[in-house]
Amino acid sequence: MTTTTSAIAAARPGGPLAPTTVERRDLRPDDVLIDIAYAGICHSDLHQVHQDWGTAIFPMVPGHEIAGVVAAVGSAVTKYQVGDRVGVGCMVDSCGECEYCQAGTEQFCRKGNVQTYNGVGYDGENTYGGYSQQIVVKDAFVCRIPEGIDLDVAAPLLCAGITTYSPLRRWGAGPGKKVAVVGLGGLGHMAVKLAVAMGAEVTVLSQSLKKQEDGLRLGAKDYYATSDESTFQTLAGRFDIILNTVSAKLPVDAYLSLLRVGGAMVNVGAPGEPLEYNVFSLLGGNRALAGSMIGGIAETQEMLDFCAEHGVGAEIETINADQVNDAYARVEGSDVRYRFVIDVSTIGA
Ligand SMILES: [Zn+2]
Ligand SMILES: [Zn+2]
Repeated sequence: MTTTTSAIAAARPGGPLAPTTVERRDLRPDDVLIDIAYAGICHSDLHQVHQDWGTAIFPMVPGHEIAGVVAAVGSAVTKYQVGDRVGVGCMVDSCGECEYCQAGTEQFCRKGNVQTYNGVGYDGENTYGGYSQQIVVKDAFVCRIPEGIDLDVAAPLLCAGITTYSPLRRWGAGPGKKVAVVGLGGLGHMAVKLAVAMGAEVTVLSQSLKKQEDGLRLGAKDYYATSDESTFQTLAGRFDIILNTVSAKLPVDAYLSLLRVGGAMVNVGAPGEPLEYNVFSLLGGNRALAGSMIGGIAETQEMLDFCAEHGVGAEIETINADQVNDAYARVEGSDVRYRFVIDVSTIGA
């Protein structure tokens, strides 16, 4: 037996997205049924619908920035009760036994974690994401959204938030540290807010000064245009951390020259073509070039608690279900400040 729930899906690669229904499994002992309130539109949703990252599963219900309220729990669930405010991010299962799961980094599970959508569960069933009214998720992959953050601005934290929080923590963003955020989009604006809340001094490096006012309002101290070559002279050797949120090719050596000795440039964007750099840019200054992929469940909870404590949420534009295709076109054109969030009550309405 299953439950039918309203959803928005791409029936075939490239879309468009249209109303449909999907089946959700009956609750297992460790399952949580969530009434979804809001689902963020992550840029990777577009990549998946367009099969930019390889063959995908259709029909596809995207969405891995999920915020809602617990509607029912399985017989063995003790952590959550009906009415609790909860979120779900990019993963809904992992083996729980390998060294990476044991270390709380389920995203690197040796068996392979189960993606929230466009994935296949260990039971062989396809997974469908957050652009739907309800979802059933194993309790260990559900996070609590603390009072103090509204569900709409919390939804994007489940991917954009943790994707930027994790590397900022790992590389030591905090008081006395200078952090540069490359790109002020969905990820970049979260990185600025989080790094500022951690106590770091934040500079935005963007192609133009178009969003300068926003960047400073979000808490950045400085804002520079990378199209202006003098920027790279002015800022040489300044930063402890450069967090690159841009999914496009950029001159890595030029950015590495902005790091202090021992500094790190961390990539969270996913450009379609390889980045090139000269190893001497790393040698001269003991610099690191690194990557980071989302974060584990415990760290995602830590991030949500941190955001509640510091009043951090995403900057959002809320849309109805029938505006999703327009929103995709606008995300494609970088025309969103800074995250679309679907009001899920309008799905199937
Ligand atoms: Zn995402
Ligand atoms: Zn594992």
